[in-house]
Amino acid sequence: MSIPTLNRREWLQSLFYGPAALFSLEAFSAKRCDALAAIGPNDNIKVTRIETFVLTNSWVFVKISTDAGVTGWGEMLKDDAKACAAGALEVSDYLVGKDPRRVAFHWQAIHRGAFYRGGPIKTAISSGIDQALWDITGKCYGVPVHKLLGGPTRDRCRVYGTVSEKTGVNAMKVGPRGSRVPFKYVEGPKMVEEVTERFAALRAKFGKEVDIGIDFHGAVQPPTASLLIKALEPYHPFFFEEVVQALNVDVMAELAKKTHIPLATGERIFTKWGFREILEKRAALILQPDVCYAGGITELKIIAGMAEAYYSPIAPHNPQGPCSLAASLQLAASIPNFLIQERGDNEHPDLLAKPLPPVTGGHRPLLTDPGLGITIDEDKLKAQVGEPKPYRAAYDTDDGSVVDW
Ligand SMILES: [Mg+2]
Repeated sequence: MSIPTLNRREWLQSLFYGPAALFSLEAFSAKRCDALAAIGPNDNIKVTRIETFVLTNSWVFVKISTDAGVTGWGEMLKDDAKACAAGALEVSDYLVGKDPRRVAFHWQAIHRGAFYRGGPIKTAISSGIDQALWDITGKCYGVPVHKLLGGPTRDRCRVYGTVSEKTGVNAMKVGPRGSRVPFKYVEGPKMVEEVTERFAALRAKFGKEVDIGIDFHGAVQPPTASLLIKALEPYHPFFFEEVVQALNVDVMAELAKKTHIPLATGERIFTKWGFREILEKRAALILQPDVCYAGGITELKIIAGMAEAYYSPIAPHNPQGPCSLAASLQLAASIPNFLIQERGDNEHPDLLAKPLPPVTGGHRPLLTDPGLGITIDEDKLKAQVGEPKPYRAAYDTDDGSVVDW
């Protein structure tokens, strides 16, 4: 077949849809062109549109469209959902008309183009857009993102979530529950013993074969955290997570020095600059950056490199949807120091057109489809668009004062 006047994209389209396709490019649906996958590396491609979707469960999705019909998806922070969705649309002025494949360049431009930088909302906006741009880039080249980042660095990714014989998942996480959450600045022996007894019962139930992390959720005050850490140590938690709020890293670092069990944190830390302080002060060993608001795949790859220099592993935070999980798994498959994926056994059938490769032996197989490696079902997603959850406040049951949750 002679194709001297056709570029690779046009030639592929002609193979799939016949010569008429060459004269009706705009008529192709995004879904059909995504299925077409690779365009030539030298073909031009431009961003044409950014759209955002806020779901009733507060998950926020961003979709980036291109003039090649290839689309990319990403996710953002679920707090301040409407602000994140609106903020991502403001990036249109910069991004529309540009080549989406200059992902690291765009990260720099979006981050440094803002006079007021960082923080959860700004970084969530750049995170969601970054995921979508990586998704597009992988689809353009016909490879999963981890291959663009030098991977795969492993054959499969260990996950934690629901312990199960069927999936082989043998790692889980719990909170410090007793008859209530230990909110008080200094909890007495009754509360400390309740939390310890519950954890001890779990250890007895699951034995030594199951790794059990415990997440204080930043809701525990430093003196109580110190008491609980000491009491729980004999039952060998996998890690202590967010033992206190991460706003004063020195306090967390003091607690880290008092225990031989690894501390974990990161879901409320943003960008490489936030994680620099955690690493330098040894405030936590296990880093849990969130790909939806620590800066996207581009930034998490850098954070992982910084962590590697401190012998720190990465366990990506993931309380959200399929883009969050897929982007985290693409990162996991491209770094050497991945530990385990939070909620890596979630399947998201209510948002995906194609099931994820099933978890077996406690591990999720690599996502090998181009881009993030998932196919969002836009009809299913749009059916869930609506008002996000309202702000949540928690109160002490004894005196009604506001507490962390
Ligand atoms: Mg947590």
